[in-house]
Amino acid sequence: MKDKNCVDVNVNPCKMCMPMGACLAFKGMEKSIVVMHGSQGCSTYVRRHMAQHYNEPIDIASSSLNEKATVYGGEANLKKGLKNVLKMYNPKTIGVVTTCLAETIGEDINRILKDFMVEEKISSEDLTLVSVPTPGYGGTQFEGYYLAVRKMVEKIVEPSEPNKKINIISGLMSPGDIRELKLILERFGIEAVILPDVSETLDSPYRGLEFEKLPEGGTTCSEIKTMSGSLATIEFGVHSREDHSPGEYLKKEFGVPLYRIPIPIGLENSDTLMKLLSKISGKKIPEYYVKARGRMLDAMIDSHKYNGEGVAAVFGEPELVTSISSLCLENGITPRVISTGSNIKKIRAFLAEGLDKYGDEIVVLEDTDFETIRSYVKEKEVNILIGHSDGKYIEEKEGIPLIRVGFPVHDRIGAQRQVTIGYDGSMNFLDILTNTLMAQKYQSYRDRMYKKYYKEDEDVKEVTA
Ligand code: SF4
Repeated sequence: MKDKNCVDVNVNPCKMCMPMGACLAFKGMEKSIVVMHGSQGCSTYVRRHMAQHYNEPIDIASSSLNEKATVYGGEANLKKGLKNVLKMYNPKTIGVVTTCLAETIGEDINRILKDFMVEEKISSEDLTLVSVPTPGYGGTQFEGYYLAVRKMVEKIVEPSEPNKKINIISGLMSPGDIRELKLILERFGIEAVILPDVSETLDSPYRGLEFEKLPEGGTTCSEIKTMSGSLATIEFGVHSREDHSPGEYLKKEFGVPLYRIPIPIGLENSDTLMKLLSKISGKKIPEYYVKARGRMLDAMIDSHKYNGEGVAAVFGEPELVTSISSLCLENGITPRVISTGSNIKKIRAFLAEGLDKYGDEIVVLEDTDFETIRSYVKEKEVNILIGHSDGKYIEEKEGIPLIRVGFPVHDRIGAQRQVTIGYDGSMNFLDILTNTLMAQKYQSYRDRMYKKYYKEDEDVKEVTA
């Protein structure tokens, strides 16, 4: 809670820690596993959140640093952990993700990993080790995610011949969203390298008793190697730092043109994606999407009279919050509280065109916590919450419905299948918002009318009597 009279303290922060984002990113690489260099609690925290959200078995290894390793260094623990993981999982890639403890004691991870490959006589053809410095205090899951993808690209991409593919840095999207993205590319007839690709790895089909320790799917190392020869990179993400951006690296090192765009939620953001795919590939926007756009416009017209009563608080990781706020703004739902736990200071500027006419009515909170969000929810008379499950306490305490979207969703099922991107996904998501507002209206309008008209009359009668 930020209070001008006291030292800033976070009460129930609106964020997850940095290694969480890195682990999510590595789940989108083929046959990869993460070893978290730190204490066991860090990996348990990540596993628990991911397993509950995706309803999949999530294996995250830990170097299990204890008091002795903290004082004398954790090199032996890390090497032992890596050997165990190789024996048990036979992965193609291991992401070595650090934690608060490993970074604070100043472990030289790159040197340790180099030594490990030599000592174990492992060829880089057989195993790729990617290290990512992610102390929990270094940022949120948002920074951890982009930095991990950046490190994958820095480590794996090689100079290659030009090809006709498009690189897509997918951002923190659900497996369902990635499948929708693949469908869009297929309808365009575009070949792409999607990194990371969690469409299968974090939402696997039922296979009976067959159990794969590392699920099928994910972006392969050979695909990543050739990203240097692609026509362009589309990076879903407008807020990440330049030195965390995989697309910036590909542009700087290999001259691959870069387009950083918002996650395609909402009409305008979906238009941006469609136009860009058409421009880069030289192909026309498929007839399917011309019609889908028309259907979405029709849906927006149908629902605008109900949406006009919507006053939203949107919270979560910054890219999702930006795109959802944009969807709200273009549909007459006023996102009076726009909030994220990441410290990026860019959301208001990015949404300026939509926000300017509201002036001080809309508050944008960054690096914030749920106590602060709750106080603004009350002050701004919010009637719909849009964000992940950690906002459920506001839902319970204030009696305001929460539409669950983003990560983590613990108290509902199906988050991994949720589709919110493109015209179809946005339209379905908008329907959910509109129906929630309508349900709320019909549940309470008699009460509100009674209070407004009859209660006032009775009060007047009582006073005059
Ligand atoms: S904040 Fe630090 S100690 Fe806590 S889970 Fe994250 S990395 Fe581990």
